[in-house]
Amino acid sequence: MRVQVAIIGAGPAGLLLGQLLARSGIDAAILEQRSPEYVLGRIRAGVLELGTVETLEEAGVAQRLHREGLVHHGVELSFGGERHRIDFQSLAGKSVTVYGQTEVTHDLMDARKALAATSVYEAESVSLHDFDGSSPRVRYQKDGQTHEIACDFIAGCDGFHGVSRQSVPPGALKTFERVYPFGWLGVLSETHPVSDELIYVNHERGFALCSMRSMTRSRYYVQCSLAEKVEEWPDERFWDELRMRLDTRAQDALVTGPSIEKSIAPLRSFVAEPLRFGRLFLAGDAAHIVPPTGAKGLNLAVSDVRYLAHGLIAHYRTGDDARLDSYSERCLRRIWLAERFSWWMTSLLHRFPDTDAFGRKIQTAELTYLFRSPTAQKSLAENYVGLPFDD
Ligand SMILES: Cc1cc2nc3c(=O)[nH]c(=O)nc-3n(C[C@H](O)[C@H](O)[C@H](O)COP(=O)(O)OP(=O)(O)OC[C@H]3O[C@@H](n4cnc5c(N)ncnc54)[C@H](O)[C@@H]3O)c2cc1C
Repeated sequence: MRVQVAIIGAGPAGLLLGQLLARSGIDAAILEQRSPEYVLGRIRAGVLELGTVETLEEAGVAQRLHREGLVHHGVELSFGGERHRIDFQSLAGKSVTVYGQTEVTHDLMDARKALAATSVYEAESVSLHDFDGSSPRVRYQKDGQTHEIACDFIAGCDGFHGVSRQSVPPGALKTFERVYPFGWLGVLSETHPVSDELIYVNHERGFALCSMRSMTRSRYYVQCSLAEKVEEWPDERFWDELRMRLDTRAQDALVTGPSIEKSIAPLRSFVAEPLRFGRLFLAGDAAHIVPPTGAKGLNLAVSDVRYLAHGLIAHYRTGDDARLDSYSERCLRRIWLAERFSWWMTSLLHRFPDTDAFGRKIQTAELTYLFRSPTAQKSLAENYVGLPFDD
């Protein structure tokens, strides 16, 4: 088989790239190691920046998002039993949309099916070849047979554990990493959310987040130790722990119910530089990870893909490679700004096991400053709703 672009991974990054390229008449095949059901079963991000929504509009997959997504004009921070609202609209002139990553993936899968574009699910042993030359190839196994795809470019959209980044020769890649000494225990339940907006909680017992996927489906998280196992957290224990970290108004409003998903996610900051090696481009979690506190993971994946799609479209339409040549540099500028914000939100809101009394006082002072200073609030708001794209 020969295509113009071989895309590795059918997460949001790979599917969105495929859709943007297909709408511009560029032929791309997607190889995914898992089944569609498995990909759709992963409960992950849920807050979309305006720029992400606009990119999904450009891809022609935003109709259901506009019907069912919840537009949020602010978030609340809870500390010392009190809640403080950050008003995005007045501080940053924008809002965010709550719409689950699963739904984004669903819409992109439906759009790809309608185009009858090539997607190979359950592709095993995917390997990347010759991307440092002019004729890259991708091999994979399916149903016991080896297949090969020749292409002009490879897009590595296969997440943090994928094969694309690992295929880059050692020494060509520089990585930066911070692993946090705690995780997030998350619960999804068919219950009315505790509030109309997200509540981020800094509490003596640790961080908590009250989030949602819709007005009938809540997503809650509590900071937990990395040594803990999901099995040690029956629903009742989770709800008790969450309740203890909430302010009294939220405690009264909390509706509990059986969990329909429960998982522990470790928190990590990670960046691999650069994002381009010859004809291989990395995008999304394949190149970077942020702790979810800043709600940036999915949004960053979308912004990489937007830059990459526009670069590839310019290449095929006009032969102009300026955008492809500056892809890594432009992505990294945005990635590091999101890394900074996600690290800052994580530092501000979590209980770090090794923080001494001085560190705790500084964290309290930082929160006090934030609640009193419209300037500090503006900085949080403009980062949360999403910094502008370069183009
Ligand atoms: C548990 C969890 C919770 C999260 N919660 C949030 C959140 O609340 N907010 C937020 O903003 N972000 C969150 N994130 C991050 C966000 O979900 C990711 O940033 C986003 O999924 C990135 O999309 P992606 O397409 O780059 O990567 P992925 O979604 O990881 O997709 C990569 C795809 O590549 C496939 N793949 C991997 N290896 C191969 C291979 N060798 N061959 C072929 N295919 C392969 C994978 O199966 C997968 O389908 C969370 C992430 C995790 C893991």
